[in-house]
Amino acid sequence: MNHLSFDLRKRYYPSVCPVCSGDALEVDVTPRKAEFQCPGCGAYEITLAARSAIKGMSQKHRALWLLQARKHVSS
Ligand SMILES: [Zn+2]
Repeated sequence: MNHLSFDLRKRYYPSVCPVCSGDALEVDVTPRKAEFQCPGCGAYEITLAARSAIKGMSQKHRALWLLQARKHVSS
């Protein structure tokens, strides 16, 4: 995953991407918000509320959600 840019001040740990269910890296931004680095979805932030909401979404709606989420990540 060398193509992903990592912020070395953050502590990433292995996780599962809530959007595509693939292997990803996760870092806690705040107690209620996490940032994901996913090879398939890119970098995005997700709140706890969105994370539980996305489980009930279709793959199509997850993709739409992801488009919005990625705009808010400063790279
Ligand atoms: Zn993903």
